[in-house]
Amino acid sequence: MKIVLVGCGTTGNHVLPHLHEDVFLIDRDIVERVNLERQPLFSPADIGKAKAEVLGKKFGFSYAVADLDCESISLLADADLVIECTDNLETRFLINEYCVKNKIPWIYTGIVGKRGRVMKVDGDYCFRCVFSEVKGLDTCSTVGVDLAAAQELGNIAAEEVQRKSRGLWANGSWVKIKRNEDCPVCHGRYAYLEGKKEKIVKFCGSSRYQFKGNFNFEDVKERLHGSGEWFVHKDFYVFKDRVLVKAENEKEAKKKFTEVIGM
Ligand SMILES: [Zn+2]
Repeated sequence: MKIVLVGCGTTGNHVLPHLHEDVFLIDRDIVERVNLERQPLFSPADIGKAKAEVLGKKFGFSYAVADLDCESISLLADADLVIECTDNLETRFLINEYCVKNKIPWIYTGIVGKRGRVMKVDGDYCFRCVFSEVKGLDTCSTVGVDLAAAQELGNIAAEEVQRKSRGLWANGSWVKIKRNEDCPVCHGRYAYLEGKKEKIVKFCGSSRYQFKGNFNFEDVKERLHGSGEWFVHKDFYVFKDRVLVKAENEKEAKKKFTEVIGM
């Protein structure tokens, strides 16, 4: 069974040690000092490195340093099971659409403060049936993530993976979920797969902002004397399709991006 784990942050850190099968890791973020307290798989020596790379090498799993969007979502193509451990609704909606469309079972995990949730999506309802697009809810940036809750959530998710691999998914003690007749995804409308996305995203629990598109990677690489598939330049991590900027707020991030990368 091939498992794709998306998100190597706090939840991912607590799910990953339970996985022993063919695992592929995907994460878009960089290890920061502030992560070390809640993400026990990282050490001070990992600061500044890509999370997926650090954990992939540590556990001997294959990995991709990537932000999932309507193109890179095909990284999930040969998954038998996807475990979602990200911290944002947009990626969850995208994963949901891809997995529903391609009939790939997936597990959603979510945690805010002491409240955690694990939900499997593999049947006649989907994630979008339950969660609609709302903004302004508590996120981990504003209320934090409780470490004990993250550990418990990791255990529950890992149990579900075990059940799934033994063909016992139907036996779990799950809350019954009904299909929402108004759900666009269940009616075959995939807005996120068709490219709906936010242009700037702030990463949970970090001081980084992500910008996507609107720059030519090769030009920027030459100008900033970078090398490789992605490179670091001062407060910037420059990838082929996106840039991470360290900044105090969105205004400062935009200013830095415009000055150094250009628009
Ligand atoms: Zn649905």
